[in-house]
Amino acid sequence: MKDQDNHMHKTIGILGGGQLGKMLFYETSKMGIPTILMDKNREMPVGKIAQEYELGDFENYEDVIRFGSKVDVITIEIEKINVAALEELANMGKKVYPQPKIISLIQDKGLQKSYYKDNELPTSQFGLYDNQADLINDINNGRWSYPFVQKIRKGGYDGRGVQIIKSEKQLVTEGFKKDFLVEDRVEILKEISIITCSDTSGTTLSYDPVEMVFDPNSNILMYQLGPADITEEQKANAKDIAYKLTQELGIVGLLAIEMFIDINGQILINEIAPRPHNSGHHSIEACYCSQYENHIRAIYDLPLGSTQTIMPSLLINVLGIEGKTGPVKYEGINECLKTPGLTLHLYGKKITKPNRKMGHITIIGKNIEALKENYKLISSTFKATS
Ligand code: ADP
Repeated sequence: MKDQDNHMHKTIGILGGGQLGKMLFYETSKMGIPTILMDKNREMPVGKIAQEYELGDFENYEDVIRFGSKVDVITIEIEKINVAALEELANMGKKVYPQPKIISLIQDKGLQKSYYKDNELPTSQFGLYDNQADLINDINNGRWSYPFVQKIRKGGYDGRGVQIIKSEKQLVTEGFKKDFLVEDRVEILKEISIITCSDTSGTTLSYDPVEMVFDPNSNILMYQLGPADITEEQKANAKDIAYKLTQELGIVGLLAIEMFIDINGQILINEIAPRPHNSGHHSIEACYCSQYENHIRAIYDLPLGSTQTIMPSLLINVLGIEGKTGPVKYEGINECLKTPGLTLHLYGKKITKPNRKMGHITIIGKNIEALKENYKLISSTFKATS
């Protein structure tokens, strides 16, 4: 974009008022970009801070058209959007990023997997099914052996809609019955994520890979480490895969690519998200230009900022504790805020539920061992309870 074409008066419309929308909104506010958001109710995290907020259902065609007609550039913080409406808005001349066809691809895990295969991108073996009888047939013919992974094609999130099937009995009683996919169970050494950002001319930058670190006993996610503790060769391979996929899609804005490194060191794509992502929260404090700012720059036709890491980081999700549902109370805030290099992000959700994402904590610092010590202290003292 040339400076004389300055268009900083154009309005951005963000579909979704959750925490990701809130963080996008901070960036548009910072740059003075007019912004309207839409979500179902004002209780969503952005509801209380955005002046221009529309109530509407982003899965409803008319609501999305009504909202999109009022703005110049449309983006999303969630994939569950009415794509037909986005296509219509694009036909009307609105800038819609990510592009609607990419959103429909990503809404369906079956299409996603087929896309990787068609484009020779590494992913685990898989099969698509519309009923369980066909799967049982394939198992009997030796195509699959237990344990394998079964996933619903549409609508799953945060592990809901994914299960490991260990026996025929489990498959018949608990298995998904229709429109699912089956994947080889990968023997995972590490789970990593790379976020890329692409502008309207096709320039792509990528953040350093980050790593999800799980408790070896309970297998529960403990924290995210950025950059990932992997070899330089693995980093380079993961980045190559991320670039290839991003360029192939031709996406404008962010793309989060979740990958597995298996026990043989092979890198496999698990799934992707065409929007700001939980695995990029750390970029607010740990990188020169955050994923949120870069997404806004990309969709608003501004030059991208540096994705380089300034400082290692450890990120902890603040989840509602088990057994507590109701108005949220935070315990251990004072202790937590005494930690040097720590930033507390609370999303402003009034009600806590088990495992609900209530906020996150980023700690930056040069010494990774010290970051891990901080994790131990915070995870034992800071709680979202009721
Ligand atoms: P969601 O979209 O709900 O996050 P994912 O497809 O990312 O679902 O799966 C959730 C988790 O399940 C992953 O983070 C990983 O730990 C595990 N998982 C998913 N697919 C496989 C697989 N093919 N083999 C082994 N584990 C898997």
